[in-house]
Amino acid sequence: MAPVTQKSVLSTVPTQLFVGGEWRDSLSATTFPVHDPATGGVLVEVANGTVADGEAALDAAVAAQADWAATPPRERGEILRRAFELLTERTDEFAMLMTLEMGKPLAESRGEVAYAAEFFRWFSEEAVRIHGRYAVNPAGGSRLLTMQKPVGPTFMITPWNFPLAMGTRKIGPAVAAGCTMVVKPAQETPLSMLALAALLEEAGLPGGVLNVVATSDTAVVSEPIIRDPRLRKLTFTGSTAVGRRLVEQSAEQLLRVSMELGGNAPFLVFDDADLDAAVEGAMLAKMRNIGEACTSANRFLVHESVAEDFGRLLAKRMGGLTVGKGTKPGVEVGPLITAKARDGVHELVQEAVDKGARLLTGGEPVAGRGHFYAPTVLVDVPADARVLAEEIFGPVAPITTFSDEADAVRQANSTEYGLVAYAYTRDHARVIRVSEGLEFGMVGINTGIVSNAAAPFGGVKHSGFGREGGFEGISEYLETTYVSLNP
Ligand code: NAD
Repeated sequence: MAPVTQKSVLSTVPTQLFVGGEWRDSLSATTFPVHDPATGGVLVEVANGTVADGEAALDAAVAAQADWAATPPRERGEILRRAFELLTERTDEFAMLMTLEMGKPLAESRGEVAYAAEFFRWFSEEAVRIHGRYAVNPAGGSRLLTMQKPVGPTFMITPWNFPLAMGTRKIGPAVAAGCTMVVKPAQETPLSMLALAALLEEAGLPGGVLNVVATSDTAVVSEPIIRDPRLRKLTFTGSTAVGRRLVEQSAEQLLRVSMELGGNAPFLVFDDADLDAAVEGAMLAKMRNIGEACTSANRFLVHESVAEDFGRLLAKRMGGLTVGKGTKPGVEVGPLITAKARDGVHELVQEAVDKGARLLTGGEPVAGRGHFYAPTVLVDVPADARVLAEEIFGPVAPITTFSDEADAVRQANSTEYGLVAYAYTRDHARVIRVSEGLEFGMVGINTGIVSNAAAPFGGVKHSGFGREGGFEGISEYLETTYVSLNP
């Protein structure tokens, strides 16, 4: 097999819109550039969808809905199974494409391909497990039937940080449930999604079931779709600010809505923790995806008796990482997505330092081309530093301390976000108390990674609502009809 190179993937990746089973240019005949965050250079130009393209994509999804809902669940599941196998076979191609447009090192991109593919495997199995209920009316006489039906045409908006997995997490259950869809990938990273659409076409997905419209005119193209009375569901992964605006728009048609929004994950290290394991977990929770993950540990809350040791060990590991272009062998930390993102991270670090925080390592952008930032550890971070309150989205670990368990949980919960919290402890009774006390949709105990296609991913508070993956994932795409049957 020919080696996978930048040239080989860019010369074959689809760059058009995918509407009604056809690949075509934008109705405006315009394109927009996709950049390599490691160099700032243009990788390729992609068709720039317009409002009319968005409407055409919804027309196609609406037209395909009835036939798709009537397609046997086993057939829908088998298409997903084929897509899982194709994606797994093409891991290297997808990983290269993702690293080029998003920046993460190739090994991490391979990890994302595997994670993304798991949603197709999981939901290929869920497609044939959609059940209703049958009951006798408690008062006697009639029978109560409940049936599950696909919600209908769905609009999916995905972010740039996990360009593939944030798509398969939505597409997998929608396909399994019998929903058709329009997908709008992030403008920074449309290539992975376009390649995925081609793969699903190859796996046998009928035309019109999945439509992809990339655009640089996001708000303008999205709003008419959300306000269209034929749309039934909106699912969004992205920032809380944009999510809030989309929920407002979705109120007009009272859409079913799922929101996977921002996070501010606390990472608790208790005095009884295995400190080496905690540092290992911290590296994963902090450095996975260059810190550009909604699940990224944003605040390290460490018991005051072990904080100094933890900080020293973490700084040693973080300071030893190799930063560079993600396609280069041995690189462990890629560039941030844009210069603006990197500058935003630096501002947070500087503000904390100005207020008295101490740098144990890093603290500066890396000179030269690309949007690189040095892995950074901050200690003595004052409680009012912005870096503790805002989503950092970069390789920066601020460490603060707590005095006892109640203080730890109180500090962990003092955020408007509620996506994920991590805790390291060897005390099993504490595991239960802390898991019950933490106001988060997910809790990682003695692990730095919680994402799993077989588990319900999602948050509470300003991190949104709805769950992706697990048994819960498909229910987001199902509607209940109750039939009162008088025999
Ligand atoms: P973003 O909100 O800027 O963009 C997300 C998507 O929304 C993109 O496709 C973008 O083009 C689109 N968008 C932006 N403005 C829009 C508008 N006015 N109308 C319609 N669409 C619009 O977020 P981002 O910077 O791409 O992603 C990072 C954010 O995503 C972080 O806050 C992160 O925590 C969050 N995220 C959450 C999860 C989760 O599962 N909870 C997963 C990954 C990322």
